[in-house]
Amino acid sequence: MTIKIAVLPGDGIGPEIVNEAVKVLGVLNRSFGLNASWQEGTIGGVGYDVDGAPYSEATRKLVHASDAVLLGAVGGPKWEKLDKPLRPEAGLLRIREDLGLFANYRPTKVHSQLLDASTLKPEVIDGVDILVVRELVGGIYFGQPRGIETVDGERRGYNTMVYSESEIRRIGRTAFEAARLRSNRVCSVEKANVLDVSELWRNVIIELHESEYADVELSHMYVDNAAMQLIRNPRQFDVIVTGNLFGDILSDEASMLTGSIGMLPSASLGEKFGMYEPIHGSAPDIAGENKANPLATILSVAMMLRFSLDRNDLAEIVEKAVENTLDAGVRTVDLAFGGEASVSCSAMGDAVCAALEELAS
Ligand code: NAD
Repeated sequence: MTIKIAVLPGDGIGPEIVNEAVKVLGVLNRSFGLNASWQEGTIGGVGYDVDGAPYSEATRKLVHASDAVLLGAVGGPKWEKLDKPLRPEAGLLRIREDLGLFANYRPTKVHSQLLDASTLKPEVIDGVDILVVRELVGGIYFGQPRGIETVDGERRGYNTMVYSESEIRRIGRTAFEAARLRSNRVCSVEKANVLDVSELWRNVIIELHESEYADVELSHMYVDNAAMQLIRNPRQFDVIVTGNLFGDILSDEASMLTGSIGMLPSASLGEKFGMYEPIHGSAPDIAGENKANPLATILSVAMMLRFSLDRNDLAEIVEKAVENTLDAGVRTVDLAFGGEASVSCSAMGDAVCAALEELAS
């Protein structure tokens, strides 16, 4: 049976990086017997420009008819002045909500070849392998009421951070299950010393742990401390489970352990669908220059193979091809330090494809 993939390149560097990931899919089809087909749709700013909405009905139909979604990135200055529901980021929130993608997996693995690319000391980051499991469709990004109103002659902005027991249990289960396949440790991050919603979060995680996951080592950390510990001693973490806002911030911080945000893939998973995208944005500052790092998007294809297409074998091959490419010293500009030569986005994609072909032969 042919696997159907919805490809949503989006804005800025999105089309450039997704193009390289699609080349990888082509090699997997040709040389590794993957039987995948893909169809492009719009999302974000380009969705508004072409289809009149950041998550159009046409794209909704396409993704619902697909086995998995590969997304580039959305956003850019061109669309910043639009009404909020028409802005690119609204499209992203809507597709996550529509597909019920409640769990965002963000692995942060330090590649030994890139130890010097990080701003942190090599001895601090060597061996780091963290999985941030972020709740994606609840919390303060979706809570009601929200808005900006005028009270006593001045404007007041507000949002609501809200989690129900079932939402906490659902993401907690995802994290405990993931930990069982790794080093069996979960650190739950919240702000229970100040926030009621976090107090509930902690209590539900403890209950879940006691009732179903007593074999997994559980710890708790306040988010401010977690932000500090990630820089001080990142190797202490295996799986971090946290809410939408804290996960957004901590996973970007964790990304810098690896040296470049251009290295980090992500998977957003629900009961039925999976969507795969790099964790970075549309990088308008380098869009159209063919110098973005496509490896996060290519590694997102590996996550797609593992979590949606049941092809862990091919996921490992793609990850090996990326390792071999880095071993060979191929670097995009964000990874090149100390006078190292750099290659373009498309040349990096070609190098990974060549490494794949070599693994096939
Ligand atoms: P960004 O991640 O786009 O860029 C931050 C910095 O990292 C920039 O200097 C950029 O050049 C660099 N960078 C990012 N990806 C790179 C790559 N693959 N290779 C090399 N360098 C890379 O974040 P930002 O500048 O805060 O946001 C730009 C736009 O992206 C905004 O409109 C924002 O809303 C949007 N955004 C979208 C997503 C998403 O689509 N999931 C995520 C974050 C931000």
